[in-house]
Amino acid sequence: MKQACHYASRLASDSLDRPLSLWERLRLKLHLSMCSNCQNCDNNLKLMRQINELMRNNHYGEVRLSDQQQNQLHKALDKHSASVN
Ligand SMILES: [Zn+2]
Repeated sequence: MKQACHYASRLASDSLDRPLSLWERLRLKLHLSMCSNCQNCDNNLKLMRQINELMRNNHYGEVRLSDQQQNQLHKALDKHSASVN
């Protein structure tokens, strides 16, 4: 992974937990406009966040996924990413 991609994926992840500064948002947006790998990463993070919020809103409480379930989710996300491109 390129250093720019590493930084962008970190910013994308951080953006789910805290507001990014203007400079961080600009750097992330610029990188996402040029890098399809990081676009996929950003889309997957947002999808996982949406799933998480959906589960919370439906009062499932603390949902813990087994390793096998996590692998299945990762495969589904990979398929989702492939279908988006
Ligand atoms: Zn990238």
